[in-house]
Amino acid sequence: MSRPIEAVIHSAALKHNYQLIKQRAPQARAFAVIKANAYGHGVERVVNTLNDADGFAILEFATAIAMRQAGVTQPILLLEGVFSVDELQQCAQHNIMLAIHEPRHLDWLRTTVLQAPVQIFLKLNTGMNRLGFVAENAPELVAQLRAMPNVASVTLMTHFATADEPAKGITQQWARFRAQSELLDCPCSLANSAAIFAYPEVHGDWVRPGIALYGSSPFAHQSAEQLGLLPAMSLRSRIIAVQNLEAGDTVGYGATFIADRPMRIGVVACGYADGYPRHAPTGTPIVVDGQVTRLLGRVSMDMLCVDLTELPNAQIDSVVELWGQSLSIDAVAQKAGTIAYELMCAIANRVSVQLD
Ligand SMILES: *Cc1c(COP(=O)(O)O)cnc(C)c1O
Repeated sequence: MSRPIEAVIHSAALKHNYQLIKQRAPQARAFAVIKANAYGHGVERVVNTLNDADGFAILEFATAIAMRQAGVTQPILLLEGVFSVDELQQCAQHNIMLAIHEPRHLDWLRTTVLQAPVQIFLKLNTGMNRLGFVAENAPELVAQLRAMPNVASVTLMTHFATADEPAKGITQQWARFRAQSELLDCPCSLANSAAIFAYPEVHGDWVRPGIALYGSSPFAHQSAEQLGLLPAMSLRSRIIAVQNLEAGDTVGYGATFIADRPMRIGVVACGYADGYPRHAPTGTPIVVDGQVTRLLGRVSMDMLCVDLTELPNAQIDSVVELWGQSLSIDAVAQKAGTIAYELMCAIANRVSVQLD
C-alpha cells in the first residue's frame, strides 16, 4: 500500500448539487464554475460528471481551450477575460465567451481580425471595486460593442461583495445594476452561490454557482446541510502510528499540546503539504473510524496527531476523515480561521484523487 491519503470526489453529490441549484434558479441557465481546478476537485472530473450542465465558467485560458479540444460543446465563459490579442483570437476560434472589464479589451475587439464574432460578458463594477467598468457607462459601452462586427452578443454581468451576509446584502449593488439593465435589452448574469440561495430576484439569465456545487455553504449562518447540499469531496487518510502518553508528555513541534493525564494518540498521514490547514488548532474535529475526535498539537508538513483516548479500538490503519461525508468542511475551515474555498483549492498534487 502507498501513503494512504486520498481525496474522494463524490460524483453523485456534484450532480445533486447542480440539480438543486437549477431548482433554486429555475428560470436561469447555470454555469458550473470550475476555476482553480474546479475548486480542487479536478476540472476534467467535474466536467465529465456534469456533462449536461448548461455551461462552464473558468479563469484559466489553457484549460478552456483544452476543454474544447476534448469535445466539450456547452458554452464556456472566461470569467476574467483574456490577457492578450492572441487569446482573444483563440476565443473566437473555439467559441469561448469572455468577460471584458477594461478599456483595452474594447480596443482589442475593435482592431483585431477574428475568425468569428465573440459573445461578450460586459463586467460592470457596481461596488465590489475589483474588476469592471463604471456601471453607469453601460449604455455607452453596449452601444460601442453592438457596433463592432467582432461582437456577437452582449450580456451584462456583475459580482456581489456581500451576498452571503444578510446584514450587508446586495441592495446597493443590485440597484446600480438594475438602473442600467432596465435601459438595455441585454441578458444578465449576477448571482454567485450566495445570491442564488438568498436573492431569487437577481437570478437573471445565467447564474454562476461555485462553492455550492462542491457542497459547502456560502453562508456563515446556514449550513450546507440546511441548504440541502451534499459534500463533493472527502479527504481521507489512515492512522500510521499510535503513541501512549503520560501526563506531562507533549505532542509535535513546539510541544504546544501537553497531556494532563495518560492518553493514547494516533498519528495521521496528512499534513499541511497535503493541503490540511496548518493553522487548525488543538480541538479541530477529525473523524476516526466513524467517530468524531480532535486534533492535538501543531499540524506538521506530513503528519498530524489525533486523540484516541476515547477510541480504544482505533489502531494503525484505522480510517481517518479530515473532512467530507462524515465531517463538514465548513466546520473544519471555521476552526482553522478560513473558508472551505481555501481548503478545497489547497489540496496538494501529491494527494491522489478517486472518483466515486
Ligand atoms: C468564483 C466566481 C463565482 C463563484 O462564486 P461562489 O461564491 O463560489 O459561488 C461567480 N462569479 C465570479 C465572477 C467568480 O469569480
